[in-house]
Order: sequence, then C-alpha cells, then structure tokens
Amino acid sequence: MKGTMMQFPLTLTPLFERAGKLFPNVEIVSRRPDNSTHRYTYDDMYHRARALADTLQQSGVRPGDRVAALMWNHSAHLEVYFAVPIIGGVLHTLNLRLHPDELAFIINHAEDHVLIVDDVLLPVFEKLKDRVKFQRVIVVPFSGNPVPNGYEDYEMLLGQSNATPKYVELHEDDAAGMCYTSGTTGKPKGVVYSHRAIVLHSYSISLPDNFGISRTDTVLPAMSMFHANAWGLPYAAVMNGAKIVLPGPNLQPELILDLLSAEQVTLTGAVPTVWLGVLQCLEREPKRWSLPKGMRIIIAGSAAPETLFRRFDKFGVRMIHAWGMTETAPIGTVCTLGPEMQSCSEDARYELRTRQGVPSPFVEIRAIGDSGEVPWDGQAPGELELRGPFIAGSYYNLPEEGHKWSTDGWFRTGDVVTIDPAGYVKITDRTKDLIKSGGEWISSVDVENALVAHPAVAEAAVVAVPHPKWQERPLALIVLKNGTTVSSEELRTFLVSRFAKWQLPDDFVYLPELPHTSTGKLLKSELRQRYKTWSWQSEKSEL
Ligand code: ADP
Repeated sequence: MKGTMMQFPLTLTPLFERAGKLFPNVEIVSRRPDNSTHRYTYDDMYHRARALADTLQQSGVRPGDRVAALMWNHSAHLEVYFAVPIIGGVLHTLNLRLHPDELAFIINHAEDHVLIVDDVLLPVFEKLKDRVKFQRVIVVPFSGNPVPNGYEDYEMLLGQSNATPKYVELHEDDAAGMCYTSGTTGKPKGVVYSHRAIVLHSYSISLPDNFGISRTDTVLPAMSMFHANAWGLPYAAVMNGAKIVLPGPNLQPELILDLLSAEQVTLTGAVPTVWLGVLQCLEREPKRWSLPKGMRIIIAGSAAPETLFRRFDKFGVRMIHAWGMTETAPIGTVCTLGPEMQSCSEDARYELRTRQGVPSPFVEIRAIGDSGEVPWDGQAPGELELRGPFIAGSYYNLPEEGHKWSTDGWFRTGDVVTIDPAGYVKITDRTKDLIKSGGEWISSVDVENALVAHPAVAEAAVVAVPHPKWQERPLALIVLKNGTTVSSEELRTFLVSRFAKWQLPDDFVYLPELPHTSTGKLLKSELRQRYKTWSWQSEKSEL
C-alpha cells in the first residue's frame, strides 16, 4: 500500500520562493574589498537572483549545464547559489586558492559552460583562461570599479533582465551543485549534489541538536562559499529566514571579530586554524569586542583541540564541533551533549565536546577494522563508513575511484575512528596520517591537540618520519606564539602525563609557519615529504 501524500519533489525552488515571500525585510550584509559594508534585503536578493536566472536562461543555459563561480563570500555569490539551480543549472563553485593548473583541470573535467567571477579575482582567471573554454564570462564589479573591457558586466545584465525566469520542472535527484574535494589526499574529485541532498542537509543542520538555525539568528559563514557549500549554512540560513553576514575577501582574525561584534552574529563557523587566530586576538584585547552571549561557533574541517572549547567558554561563546567532508554535503556528525551528559564532570564534558559527535538523522555510520565492523565501545578503531541521502554515491566521471565505496554501498571516509556506546564518533586520524611505530599506531591528532594546549604553542603538526629501528616515529613541528620560547624538554614534560612514553614525539622542530591546504588544513603530506630524511637526535635512545 502506498501513502496518500502528494508527490512533491524536494528542490531548492520552493525554499527560495518561500524565503522571497516570507522574509522580504531580513538583512543580508556583505563586506566589500575596501572594508566597507553593503546592505540589502532578502527581497533584493530574491529579485536579483531571479534576474540572473532569467539572464542565464536567455543566454542558453539549459538544465544540467554547469555554471562556475569564482567568488568570495558576498551577496552576489548568494544570488548565484539560487539563480543557477532554480533553472536546472548546476552551480560549480571554484576554489580560488588552487593552483591555476589544478583549477583548469577541474573546470575542464566538470565541462563548465559559463563563469561568473568577481572582478578582484580576474587575475586568477587570467592565469588559466587560455586552457579553458567558457561560452561566457560574467564579471561581478565587486570592487566597485568598472568591469574591464572584453567582459560582460553582471550588474548591467541584471539591469536589462525582466526577472521572470521560467522555472523548469525539476526532479529532486537532479543536480543542483558540484564541488571538488580540496585534494588533501590526492587528485581533486567532483561531488555532484542533488536538490534533494541540499534540501535534506539544510533541514538536518537546522535541527536544535545540530546547529539549531532559526529566523532569530544572524549567521556569518566564515568558511568559504566555494568549499562544500560553506557547510550548507547559506542554504539553511535562507530556508529559515536568518539574517546573513558575508565576510568578503582576505579575512583576518580582527576583521572577523569586528563583524561578529558589529552585526551581533549568533552563529558562525570555520576551521580550527581560523579560531586559533581569533582567540589570540580576543585574549590579547578582551575588552575590544562585545560578542553576543551564547554565540555559537561551528568548528570543523580538522580536529578541534580541547583548549579552544575551554578558552572560548570564558568569553561566553559556545563552540560546537562537527565533522564532514565534501562527499557528505558536508556535515555528517555534530557534537552536542545529551541531558545525561550534563551531569558529567567538567573535564569529562570537555573531552566529550572534542569528539566529532553523533550522526545526523538519516546518516548511518559504522567503523570497519581488520576483521570487520568494530563494536561501539569507544575503544576499537576502524575506518569510518557512512551512507545516507546526502552522502555521495560516486564521484563525477571517475569510475576508477569506485573503491571508495564498499561492495554493500557504504562510503569509505579514510578517517580512523572509535565510536562509543552512545554513538559519539572520535576521529583518531586520517588513514594516511597515522604513525606506525614498532607496529603500534600513534594518533597524530591527539598529540597535536595536546601540544596546542601549551601556552607558548600557536600551532603544531605531528608527522610520521621513517626511523631505522621503529619504522616510523613522530616528529613534532611547532609554531610558537609571538615573543614566546619553550624547550623541547619542556614540551615533552608537558605531554608526559597524557601519553605513553613511546607515543611522544622524539624531536621537536620550531618553524615560523606551517603549510596549509587551500581550505586551511595542515598540509601533512608536504611536511612528510620535507622531513622524510630527518636524522633523529634520539636515534640511539631506547624507547
Ligand atoms: P579534503 O578531503 O581534501 O581535506 P574535505 O574538506 O572534504 O577535503 O575534508 C574532509 C576531511 O577533513 C575528513 O575526511 C576528515 O579527515 C577531516 N575533518 C573534517 N572535519 C573534521 C573534524 N571535526 N575533526 C577531524 N577531522 C575532520
């Protein structure tokens, strides 16, 4: 027997139409390249996105055609987020920090038809334009200067449009967007998001035990809109009618704090590196900014050290840890504590909060060890696998990557985890970053997170380096806070209470900075390469 409900596809169009009708006066604020702010409303965004949709349709963009965006986080990017999918186009967000060769590869692999680019990013495009074939290049005058000759002007096109796009009939499984993985572990791979996946993901992250997004929120996505749909925040914010603050280019910690304080932001998010920088500014000048009490910060992208939770709590700011991947649309697990955990000791609560959390509704998880699925006992490690309606089922045009899915249809994440009886996932490492010393595994993430709790340490990476006796040993690469010093012996002593002796890094190297990927994660592959011939000071010491 079938249900008697209507067949109504889950697409972005009704979500967008509803926001246009219900929330016309809600503000959208953007920071411009000259640091000025631009303000308009949902009503403006709605009409301009429709105008853009109409323009694209008039110029021949058909359902399934890819429209690429090379843009910072600002209002025109939000317009593009809706204008492309509501006419059946596929929005391909481009990571502006990639090398031109890699960008050209991605654009050609995705077969992008049209490019929408911020004028301030034309220098990026110009480095690769001879290697790609766009039918049209539309330039957004984001800087406020006239669009250079030879390019179409976004504003002029919108002005000429009659803003009445013909909504095409969409199936919920039709593609709405695509994004390539940031390539931390190998060549970029394209993930194509369906309308249904984006809609369900927007619901999922809006839930009270996830990010809890409501129309009373002011949301500032400090992660890039070109990376995994800015963790879904722009779509979810529009679905709920929240005020949106888009922080523009070259975000420095002080600028983030200025915006958080000036716009009284209640929900924001970015990778741990960003929050480490923000926290240092805040601790240096605690009186300079006034953050709304109870502001939530979503931290994801790499493991969040405990020290961040403790230190942000002192400012009345609640940091929420989440985990995700480009392939999971991207938020797969979120760490909020159940009522029974509120009575745990303070230390236990902080430890729980550093875990990556429980799977969102409809996301199923399991961990696979050497001899099959491991129990949820918080001890046994295994590779995290998942399935669900917003988990990728394949990569775009890359059948050779089929091994990333198990034969029974689960996605293999490459992350090594334990899962406790309450379903809380704890990532111990990426399979490629684990350190194997004398046959035993060492979690680089655990050691790094312990190191950044030291008052002199700004950032730390721990990588596996070949060792004649133990196959691999951990080497710690340390960036110190300005004006501080600390000896290797002091750091070893600092770690000694938390780790077995054989898990401690043998050597500590002090560097002015660490390499990061285009999305702000530690680039450990480069560090492993750089130090692969390291001659151990402690080579002769017995462990
Ligand atoms: P890339 O795979 O190129 O790094 P993604 O942004 O898709 O690009 O990264 C996903 C990976 O980031 C995950 O597989 C995981 O290793 C890491 N990651 C994301 N969130 C967290 C987190 N909260 N804690 C630890 N690792 C995380």
